[in-house]
Amino acid sequence: MFDFIKGETCEHCGHKIAADSRFCPGCGKPVVRDPVCPLCRNTDEKDAVFCRKCGTLLTQK
Ligand SMILES: [Zn+2]
Ligand SMILES: [Zn+2]
Repeated sequence: MFDFIKGETCEHCGHKIAADSRFCPGCGKPVVRDPVCPLCRNTDEKDAVFCRKCGTLLTQK
């Protein structure tokens, strides 16, 4: 896996994505970001279901 700047590069085409972009400017696919805990704002791994810091259910947005 790549591990540059998390969530700032398209996982489909590698195009750089601005922080507020919802779609990749290179390929038009929706940007997949790491889930963020709604409670403590911890950013977790893409496949995480629960926050590893507070145990809250994470929602992929
Ligand atoms: Zn792309
Ligand atoms: Zn949390």
